[in-house]
Amino acid sequence: MAHLVPDPPPVNYQNPTLTSFGIASADGVARILAWGLDRATPWPWRVGTDDPMEVQADSYLGPQPDLTLFLVRGARQGMKLAIFHQEGGSWQRYSAYVEVTSNMADHYAAALASGTLPKSTNWEHILFYPFGATQSTPPLSEADWMTKVDDGIRLIKGNTVGMAVLANLPEDIVVYPYVQPYDNANSAVHINPARFPDGFKPGSRMDEILIHELIHRTERNAGGYENRYGFMFDGTDFLTVNATNVYSCMLGRGLRKDHHDFQFLPEEHFRDPKLHFDQQKPNYELAHGRVPTLVDTIKNVTGVWNPFSNL
Ligand SMILES: [Zn+2]
Repeated sequence: MAHLVPDPPPVNYQNPTLTSFGIASADGVARILAWGLDRATPWPWRVGTDDPMEVQADSYLGPQPDLTLFLVRGARQGMKLAIFHQEGGSWQRYSAYVEVTSNMADHYAAALASGTLPKSTNWEHILFYPFGATQSTPPLSEADWMTKVDDGIRLIKGNTVGMAVLANLPEDIVVYPYVQPYDNANSAVHINPARFPDGFKPGSRMDEILIHELIHRTERNAGGYENRYGFMFDGTDFLTVNATNVYSCMLGRGLRKDHHDFQFLPEEHFRDPKLHFDQQKPNYELAHGRVPTLVDTIKNVTGVWNPFSNL
């Protein structure tokens, strides 16, 4: 086992003593040490929460040869951090948890506790937790992050499919900045709008990424979708991709094939949505059963690519 150690380390740092810590840096980045990590290549370690995408940590040589320094971005009050080790393609926890008791740069922990997080001006069931925006890659001010995400929500609300997605959210959603330096987002919901400018790749614009993650929430991240006819949906990503396709087509945007990368839907399926429906029928029916009110709304959209109309 390994363990987390405060920075600077106490004299007996080889023994685990840390169970919680506060972050007092002006920029909100946590400095924490890890004891007991080997130096294998490729580097098989991370410090973070159970969700590998929630915080971002870079590693550096520590103040002693058996200590590794981690700079952790996006760590908020109440998070439980630990050391994780990559084994066979998945992350295994390798230390006890250490709880973040406070982060002086985070002005939103109190608002979360008192139920006063800022709300989207476009949809009152979407709340913002902007701490972490300045620690993202590229960084945004908290105000800019909020404005850009809210712009995406305005676009979504102005569209029939988008409005139905918002109306089918089962609970209030808190949106957080995505602090990893990769083009990704997740249904927790974490997003960095600065990583998704008006890209030409289908489904890759910020509002498309956002509606995708919100669709996950309407079906409570359910899996069970099949890969059929060479279309890869990774279990969870059939309705997200194809409801977004109808949304995107209404906005004159390109359509996405599946959940692997941002490839275009093949021409034959674009020209013939019934072919798509026939090949993916079990997936369409599963989606319909899960979120019937949303899928029934999509079904009735006319004049665009819409296999759902065959349901
Ligand atoms: Zn997804």
